[in-house]
Order: sequence, then structure tokens, then C-alpha cells
Amino acid sequence: MIKEDCIFCKLANKIIPAEFIYESDNFVAFPDANPKVEGHTLIVPKSHSVNLMDMPATLGRELLEAIKFVGEMKIKEGFQGFNIIQNNFPAAGQVVMHSHIHLLPRKEGDGVRMLV
Ligand code: AMP
Ligand code: ZN
Repeated sequence: MIKEDCIFCKLANKIIPAEFIYESDNFVAFPDANPKVEGHTLIVPKSHSVNLMDMPATLGRELLEAIKFVGEMKIKEGFQGFNIIQNNFPAAGQVVMHSHIHLLPRKEGDGVRMLV
């Protein structure tokens, strides 16, 4: 389902142009427009859901494959690790109300600090 006024629906379904670094049947990945670290990538389902709570669990396997693909791509690019973060609801920092996973590539000693 595509929600008419949703920016990530439009990006993931090529209604407005985006630079995909990965695409599968139900997911795309593209660079974050305001990267928090070098290589910051968003993994986004094509079908609208607000966040993890209404994303169909049947997409779980394909989501994991997307994360692993992009993670491996970043390792091949020279990063040494990565974090995944997913914000659910505004209280947890969610701004875009279409499900997405942040993949944050990391290097030894990069000084990036996470909550956990
Ligand atoms: P969140 O706080 O989890 O909702 O994160 C939303 C993320 O989407 C932020 O990191 C934004 O920089 C990013 N973002 C917002 N609009 C766009 C866009 N048009 N293209 C790529 N990334 C975007
Ligand atoms: Zn959407």
C-alpha cells in the first residue's frame, strides 16, 4: 500500500527519484539525506507501514537479507562494522512516519557514541 502524502512511499516506489544502493521485491536502501555518519543508509519497505509495530512479520526474512546485504557492502567498502537503529514512535525519535532501519557504518576509533 502506498500512502499518498508519504515521502518514503514516494522514494521507495520511484514516484520521486532516489539513488538505490539495494532493491528487492519489498525493500529498497538509499543514503540518508542528512547522514549522521559516513555511509549512513536507510533500509525502507516499499509498502507503507508506520513502524515496526505494523510492518508485517512475514517481511522479516527479507528485511534481514536487506540489512545483511547493505552491511556486507559497507564492509567491502572498507568499514569495519555497523550499527542498526530503528526508531518507533516520536518519543523514540521517529520523525518520518514510514518504517525504516538506519544502518550506520563504523570504523575502529571513529569516536561515534551510541546509547547502548
Ligand atoms: P527517524 O528519526 O528515524 O524518523 O529518521 C528519519 C531519517 O530520514 C533522518 O535521518 C533523515 O535525515 C532521513 N530523511 C528524511 N527525508 C529524507 C529523504 N528525502 N531522503 C533520504 N533521507 C531522508
Ligand atoms: Zn509511506
